[in-house]
Amino acid sequence: KIELAQRVQSLTPSTTLAITAKAKELKAQGHDIIGLGAGEPDFNTPQHIIDAAVQSMNEGHTKYTAAAGLPALKEEISKKFKKDQGLNIDPADIVVTSGAKHALYTLFQVIVNEGDEVIIPSPYWVSYPEQVKLAGGVPVYVEGKEENDYKITPDQLAESITEKTKAVIINSPSNPTGMLYSEDELKALGELCLKHNVLIISDEIYEKLTYGDNKHVSIAQLSPELENQTIIINGVSKSHSMTGWRIGYAAGNKEIIKAMTNLASHSTSNPTTTSQYGTIAAYAGSDDMLQEMREAFENRLNVIYDKLIKIPGFTCIKPQGAFYLFPNVKEAAEMTGFADVDAFTKGLLEEAMVAVIPGSGFGSPNNIRLSYATSLELLEAAVDRIHRFVESKM
Ligand code: PLP
Repeated sequence: KIELAQRVQSLTPSTTLAITAKAKELKAQGHDIIGLGAGEPDFNTPQHIIDAAVQSMNEGHTKYTAAAGLPALKEEISKKFKKDQGLNIDPADIVVTSGAKHALYTLFQVIVNEGDEVIIPSPYWVSYPEQVKLAGGVPVYVEGKEENDYKITPDQLAESITEKTKAVIINSPSNPTGMLYSEDELKALGELCLKHNVLIISDEIYEKLTYGDNKHVSIAQLSPELENQTIIINGVSKSHSMTGWRIGYAAGNKEIIKAMTNLASHSTSNPTTTSQYGTIAAYAGSDDMLQEMREAFENRLNVIYDKLIKIPGFTCIKPQGAFYLFPNVKEAAEMTGFADVDAFTKGLLEEAMVAVIPGSGFGSPNNIRLSYATSLELLEAAVDRIHRFVESKM
């Protein structure tokens, strides 16, 4: 028997992917499951992106590219930073990766030494802690309180910074809460990072998905000092409905980007060539499709939010972005006789046939996460099922 390396012995599989797989399995067995677990838009990738990718293959672009990505793609990403955030980012300070997840993974590998601390505001995206641990780092959780819209305050950040703090992660709009940090909030957090020389990792993957009057602001656009202190992580998975293409990127400090590129050159060589050509078309093309997708999400949110908060024992802060609802259902779990929210979630899947993700995987055991990246018809049916399930058990 071959013993596994220590670093993976406590590695847990992504909860999101695990529940989604379980729901798919039940569905394949003939059960009428509605899945609200998935973290991916339900729209097709816009046709012009697919066409550009096919054309690139027909033209023979099927070989390795530069490890950091095609120069033409980095050029388009640089233009995107200018257009959307007013940032002047040199294409040389960008590394294209196999999804934003891989950008983050590579980033932690190049900045974290054994025992270094990375501050992770909770509720958090499931992969941050595992990726930090895989790099030998120590995740330091800071609880974004429900009464503060699940966001951390400057006082909390100040208290959690130590000699060993290497970086802090800001994910706005947030998965799983859908909350956005305002410009003032980011300024206050950023000042502390500058004072203590803490690297800011700004995960902006849901940048394009904001609703109502809410607009995404990048901490990097608030001052040149903050720009220098920040590595921006982004990609096309959520914005362009391109999850399977696996294209993300990191931008910022030259040394860090160079180290990430070196590491990628020994691990992936380069992100998939065809996907990179598709992404050039995604960024060079019109944003109309993005607007349509955003509007569809917003419409779903408005319809479904009103229904969700009528479920007994559910309370929910209205999300400002991304495509998740993150209700606190502690009371509903208690009223219906479940031991905890994890058990309640299991009951929802097995009895109400609705797959949602328990908040425990995001460091928030009183909540569940529902993705509204599915049709309005299914969403309404799912929320009706949950409502009936809760009432039947009260
Ligand atoms: N960051 C957050 C907060 C996410 O929710 C996700 C995807 O679920 C990612 C990063 C990774 O996106 P991808 O690797 O598909 O680009």
